[in-house]
Order: sequence, then structure tokens, then C-alpha cells
Amino acid sequence: MNTYKLAVIEGDGIGPEIIQSAIRVLEKVAPQRFGYEKLIVGGVSLDRHGVPITDEAMQACMDSDSVLLGAVGGPQWDNLPGHLRAERALLGIRKELQLFANLRPARLFSMLKAASPLRQDIAERGFDMLILRELTGGIYYGERGRKTDAQGNTIAFDTETYNQTEVDRIARIAFEMARQRRGKVCSVDKANVLESSRLWRERVHIVARDFPDVELSDMLVDNAAMQLVRNPAQFDVLVMANMFGDILSDEASQLTGSIGLLPSASLGEDKRGMYEPIHGSAPDLAGKNLANPLATILSLAMMLKYSFDLPEEAQRIEQAVENTLLKGHRTADIHDNDTQPLGTREMTDKVLQEL
Ligand code: NAD
Repeated sequence: MNTYKLAVIEGDGIGPEIIQSAIRVLEKVAPQRFGYEKLIVGGVSLDRHGVPITDEAMQACMDSDSVLLGAVGGPQWDNLPGHLRAERALLGIRKELQLFANLRPARLFSMLKAASPLRQDIAERGFDMLILRELTGGIYYGERGRKTDAQGNTIAFDTETYNQTEVDRIARIAFEMARQRRGKVCSVDKANVLESSRLWRERVHIVARDFPDVELSDMLVDNAAMQLVRNPAQFDVLVMANMFGDILSDEASQLTGSIGLLPSASLGEDKRGMYEPIHGSAPDLAGKNLANPLATILSLAMMLKYSFDLPEEAQRIEQAVENTLLKGHRTADIHDNDTQPLGTREMTDKVLQEL
């Protein structure tokens, strides 16, 4: 039997507590299949080593089969210069591991509909979508600068650039993901205005020829922002450029009603990825056994599915989380007045019982 090598980053704030929950779940669904190397990254690394990630920790990530991350950062490190910000460590890992595809599933659990800000009849229909954001190209990485015109006006510019290879590889992932889901891809762009979007659309349609079993549609980004609140149930996989994905994935996550439930994955060309909840280190909850562990547990399920070809184990975890919620167990962030909220450890115990 394979033993996989996992780089585990607890990070800061609630990181150690939620990672502990995920490891307990992993040991239950795949006992002794994984070896762990715990790495000091983020604020803890700044305190100990003066940098957010050491070369040794980065190398350990490179040598691993995947990275599981809690969260990094906190107020005590927030005012450091950019290159010493705790989050800089994550940008470094994404870059070194060439993780160009960011996957953010957003699903409205039927028993948590009341927590969604959506109108009741729209929330009633539910939704289950996967937002795929290109992560290493586009306007965040294009040429930028400032200049002064003849009248002395200051001009600032940022450039949205995509090449066909960058579009093809993210499109391919979108179609492959759709095959594992409901077989639909919606490609989001601004092709009525932007040349980079016109190339994006052309290339997505060329890649689509290899996936005749997947239904492809195009949508302008302004319409997509509207459709997310009007009729989110229509979406299966949405694929888009870096900045559009940055904005729309936050919009979609809010529609689910809770930040403590949403997992994410960052993937590259090979199987290796980085898996983390979408929330931050929640310093206000740190060390109090109050954090919701489900986003991290669901990130673990994504890891088993996408990086280790263990879809049955992933499915067991997702089902256990759903059953736990169906039975009315809640952490403080999602509880209503009828239920007694559970702590991080106790919520994890409930998930383990369902497994
Ligand atoms: P945050 O996500 O940490 O917290 C926002 C709110 O959500 C807080 O009220 C928090 O208590 C709550 N929350 C977050 N996770 C929760 C959970 N699992 N269960 C219950 N409630 C939860 O965002 P923030 O306060 O803006 O940032 C705090 C720190 O985290 C900052 O230093 C920020 O830079 C860092 N951060 C790190 C990452 C990352 O590691 N990927 C992402 C975002 C923010």
C-alpha cells in the first residue's frame, strides 16, 4: 500500500485546532496511508526565524505529495512590510509548486438555507457549484506602472495578459472537473470589450472539442455576477480569469451563509496541490475551541479526491459532514437559537461518529 507524504502547515490563530480535526478524520478514513511533516510557516515562522517561510520549509513542500494548510497571519504581523507578511508564504508556495488553478466549491447545504442572504425562494432551490479561478496569470501579474502625460496628469496602468497555454490548461481542468460533476462548464469573460477575453473564449471553445460530452456556455462577467444572486442553481463549473475569479468566488461563498464551511484547493499540472479552508486564522477564536472545523475537513476530502485518487474516502467524508449537519449539530458560527453550539473538538467527534 502507498504511503503518501503530506506537508502539514498549521499556521496561526485557529490553524492548529482545525488541522488537528482534519488529521483525526484522515486517520479514520485512510489509516496509516499518510506520513506527515509538520512545517512552521506564517506568523510562527516570522517569530522564530524572521521570515514567513524558510527555504527548508519551502523545500519540504516541494518534496511532498501535497500541502494541507490551516491558515496564516494575525494582527501582530499585519503591519510588517509586504515581503514579510505571513500570507507571502502562501504566494511563495503557489508559485514554487506552480499551482495555477484555484478550485472553490460553493454549495448551499439544504439544512442551512436560512443562513444564506439569498431570497427565500431562490435559496429553496439550493445550489452546488465549483468556481475555477486562474491563479497565476492575468492582470495581477501583468505589466503595471505610472507615468505622467504632457499636461502633468499622473496615469496608472495595469495590464491583463493571457497566452493560449495559460487558457488551455485551466480550461482543460474545468472540463475534467465537469465530467466528475454534472457535465456543465460556464466560461466567464468580458469578450464584448477585452481582447484578452476574446482569446480566452476562442481557446476555451477549442479545448471543448476534446470534451464533447460536456456542455459549454459563455457568460459575460457582469451578467455572471447578477446570475449568481438571481439563479445560482443553473451553475455547475464556472471557469474564469484571475481577477474575475477573485471577485465572483467571494460573492458565491457569501451566498452559502458561512465562511466556516468552505474548502478550497490549488492545483497545478501534476497531481500535487495545496488544500485549505477559504477563511483566515480567526484570531478572535484562537485557542478557544470555537472554530468550525468543517471547511478544513472538506478541504481534506478535496485532497483525497483530486491529489490521491481516493474518491470513495472523499465521498465518505462529505457524507459524514452532511449527516452531522442534518442531525442538527452546529458550531457557534452556524447555530441558531434552538441548538447548543458545539466546540471544534466536539464537532469533529460528531463527524468521526458518522464515518
Ligand atoms: P478570517 O477569515 O480569519 O475571519 C473573519 C470572520 O470569520 C471572523 O469573525 C472569524 O471569527 C470568522 N471565522 C473565520 N473562520 C472561522 C471558522 N472556521 N469558524 C468560525 N468562524 C470563523 O478573516 P480576517 O479576520 O480578515 O483575517 C484574520 C487573519 O487571517 C489576518 O491576519 C488575515 O491576513 C489572515 N488570513 C489568512 C488567510 C489564509 O491563511 N489563507 C486567508 C484570509 C485571511
